Amino acid sequence: MKFIVTALLGLLLVGCTKTPLTNRSQFMMISPDQEMTLGATEAKKVVETSKISTDKKLQDRVKRIGAQIAAVSGRSDFAWEFTVIQDDTPNAFCLPGGKVFFYTGILKITENDDQIATVMGHEIAHALARHGAERMSMQNASNIGAQVLAVALNVPAQYQNLYAQAYGVTSQVGLILPYSRTFEHEADQIGLYLMWKAGYNPAQAVKFWENMARLSKSSQKPPAFLSTHPADEERIREIRAYIAQLPVTR
Ligand SMILES: [Zn+2]
Repeated sequence: MKFIVTALLGLLLVGCTKTPLTNRSQFMMISPDQEMTLGATEAKKVVETSKISTDKKLQDRVKRIGAQIAAVSGRSDFAWEFTVIQDDTPNAFCLPGGKVFFYTGILKITENDDQIATVMGHEIAHALARHGAERMSMQNASNIGAQVLAVALNVPAQYQNLYAQAYGVTSQVGLILPYSRTFEHEADQIGLYLMWKAGYNPAQAVKFWENMARLSKSSQKPPAFLSTHPADEERIREIRAYIAQLPVTR
């Protein structure tokens, strides 16, 4: 029992960080350096396995909007990079450290620069708030938790691995897995602030998510982006509320 308590306390003491803007306490077992390395490795993999768009105008447009959002993010230490990938799947993501990828599929849905800035702000917000690292920390914690429990329950060493699997432990890196609702709402809130601060019209965020909602209803196979970013009424209502909370002057 004493061992369990000590181990769990140790877990809690590993690290507690706070998200920018929303100020939520996070459980963190991954250092910013580790996170940057993971992001850079993952970005290399994405570039190697994807087709980079040859549409220079589109690349420049995404780079321009990305640079404007990055400029107000307060993270000049990030190695910002914005790349358009030739892929009809509607998708976009930002890896830890600032490597942003937009698929041509999502740029077919966005109607203007403000809507591109909506997606850009949202994805960058995930990286600023270290959501990938936080999720990995929670996975690590449940892994350690399972091990502690296994020892406490006297699970023989040769079965502890099996036990961990049964306990739902994954060792998956999970940088681009779907996020929880908490992370989604947080990224919406931070993202809206960023796009607004960079001079874009936050009202277009509502338009974008309404379009996404319409798309998911009308198509037989909803865009992949929607399974990770459900464009439901709750999300749109919260986005309206965040917009109402934005300061009057930039
Ligand atoms: Zn998201």
